[in-house]
Amino acid sequence: MIRKIDHIGLAVLDPARALQTFSEALGLRLDQIEDIPSQKLRSYHLAVGESHIELLYPTDPDSTVAKFLDKKGPGVHHVALQVDDIEAERDRLVGLGFEALSAEPFIGAGGKKVLFFHPRTTGGVLLEICQLGEAAGHHDSTTK
Ligand code: ZN
Repeated sequence: MIRKIDHIGLAVLDPARALQTFSEALGLRLDQIEDIPSQKLRSYHLAVGESHIELLYPTDPDSTVAKFLDKKGPGVHHVALQVDDIEAERDRLVGLGFEALSAEPFIGAGGKKVLFFHPRTTGGVLLEICQLGEAAGHHDSTTK
């Protein structure tokens, strides 16, 4: 089951300038800065109610986010939906014709299990599904 928008990922060329926009001007709280070496990026998590905006800044010109910036410039990179059971949701969506970018979920930002689907099968947006990890679950503001 899909629970909510977990986060929206924005590719940025200049984190300081993006933070001026999103943190100082819009007043969003900067919750966390996280280096994700496996994806060669640094992410800045800004709280928006129960969801986040994640600013994605490539730390290597070979990263997928750097390639995205080369091609399209800064802007919306992906939309992430939080699910209860990522394997079940993957199977359901693959069954509907969504093209997963990896066969299995992997550990992404915040220790979450994540999986991406190709934009050509999702109406033009890179779609992520994610499930809170064991450790991340304790910090989840949505626990009942
Ligand atoms: Zn994401």
